[in-house]
Amino acid sequence: MSYDNDNIFAKILRGEIPSEMVYQDADTFAFMDIMPRAEGHVLVIPKSPARNMLDASPEQLAACLATVQKVSQAMLKAFGAAGITLQQFNEAAGGQEVFHLHYHVLPRHEGIRLNPPGVMGDQDLIKASADKIRTALQA
Ligand code: AMP
Repeated sequence: MSYDNDNIFAKILRGEIPSEMVYQDADTFAFMDIMPRAEGHVLVIPKSPARNMLDASPEQLAACLATVQKVSQAMLKAFGAAGITLQQFNEAAGGQEVFHLHYHVLPRHEGIRLNPPGVMGDQDLIKASADKIRTALQA
C-alpha cells in the first residue's frame, strides 16, 4: 500500500482545504475533527507523508506522540476532562478511512459515552472547542 498525495489530510497540510488548527510544530499538525466523537476531538498528524503506523518512521511516531501528549494535557485544562482516549486505525480492515497517519485525541468525562461516528459537528461549537484548547496550550 502506498501513500496517496491527494488524501484529504495532505490537502489540509498544503492549505488546499480549510481546517481548524490548534497546534503545529516543525513535524506535526493538530486540528479539530469535523465529526467529533467527543467535545474537543482533535486529530494529530505528521507533516511528512506516512500512510499509517505501519509505514511510519520511529521519528514520525515519536513526534506525533509528543504532540498528542501536549494536546492531551491542554485538553484536561480546557474541558476539565477526567481522562483521554487515544485512537489510531491502520488500513481499511483496521477502521482507517483517511490514509495519512493520524491519532484521534478524545477528552473524556466519567460516564459520558463517545458520540456515534460519522455525524458532522456544529462548526461554531468546534471553533469554540478549538479556542479553549489553544488558550490552554498558551497558558
Ligand atoms: P479514520 O481514518 O477512521 O481514523 O477517521 C478519519 C477521521 O477524519 C474521521 O474522524 C473524520 O471525521 C475525520 N475527517 C475527515 N475529513 C476531515 C476534515 N476535512 N477535517 C477534519 N477531520 C476530518
